[in-house]
Amino acid sequence: MTINLISDTVTKPTDDMLETMMQATVGDDVFKEDPTVNALEHKVADMFQKERALFFPSGTMANQTAIKLHTQPGEQLICDKYAHVFNYEGGGVSFNSGVSCRLVDGDRGMMTALQVEEAINPPDFYHSPLTSLVCIENTTNKGGGACWNLEELKRIKKVCSKNKLAYHLDGARLWNALVAKGEEPRQYGELFDTISVCLSKGLGCPVGSVLVGSNELMEKALRVRKIFGGGMRQAGYLAAAGIYALDNHINRLAEDHSKAKEIGKTLQNLTFVKQVEPIETNIVIFQVNENLISEQSLVQKLKQHDVHFISMGQGKLRMVTHLDYTQDMHEKLLDTLNKL
Ligand SMILES: *Cc1c(COP(=O)(O)O)cnc(C)c1O
Repeated sequence: MTINLISDTVTKPTDDMLETMMQATVGDDVFKEDPTVNALEHKVADMFQKERALFFPSGTMANQTAIKLHTQPGEQLICDKYAHVFNYEGGGVSFNSGVSCRLVDGDRGMMTALQVEEAINPPDFYHSPLTSLVCIENTTNKGGGACWNLEELKRIKKVCSKNKLAYHLDGARLWNALVAKGEEPRQYGELFDTISVCLSKGLGCPVGSVLVGSNELMEKALRVRKIFGGGMRQAGYLAAAGIYALDNHINRLAEDHSKAKEIGKTLQNLTFVKQVEPIETNIVIFQVNENLISEQSLVQKLKQHDVHFISMGQGKLRMVTHLDYTQDMHEKLLDTLNKL
């Protein structure tokens, strides 16, 4: 039994999801004639109470498109130092949009409204880049799946409005935050100009992300998506997986969260584990006591038991629970850890 906790992106479509994909009615989405893509876009826009949504092959492309929409070359965006848009999108912020990132030293990937306000360059001081966008990530990836306090996000929204900054949410794992905190998508739709969400993580789709926003912004996004690589044709087969996942795979994220918490408890009791970061959703980040075992040797040791996870560097190890991580695997993992 292979136990793969490298990421929640390792899932394969369930039989029911595959069946739904096979039955999809499709057309050419580049002509906006794929009814299933159109249905997915309507569904997600409705969930967030936004005017329009656009289907993307990846979260990276959706975020990069949003950044392009909200900025001009030479300008600056504000994000936490852990942000995916800064760390894991290949330098796309500068490559695609000619924009720099002002990094904020937040807590587990989360900034305060005060920190954001302090990071804004004075607009009349022409020597500094003009600040034009604030990017938030919920849940935080490098921050260990932490969920934002909605009140803080509202305070940051006020800072954005006061300073005429656009407000983008990288919601690759927003579904996890919604389930963990009992929140509704429209509460986020009200706050942000654009939101990207992934279908290919906790929701278990093979491919896909969606960007939501106003009609005006999404009209521009269609053009940017074209420039960044173009559209997909009979993408309804993929969109069908998305519709299926939104209907069937959101509430079950709670199971991933409780398994992650149990893994955390087990790790905490192991002598060689120095620290387990607080677990709010499906990501477990922990550190080992380097005098007892190195990160790499723990990864190797568990690999011998067919348990796979990754080192994130700087002494941190990460395990992510997901749809394909079953109860049997969970019991075997806890047992294996306890016997190490
Ligand atoms: C995974 C992820 C993305 C986008 O990832 P893709 O692999 O391009 O779909 C964006 N932001 C965060 C926080 C992520 O975890």
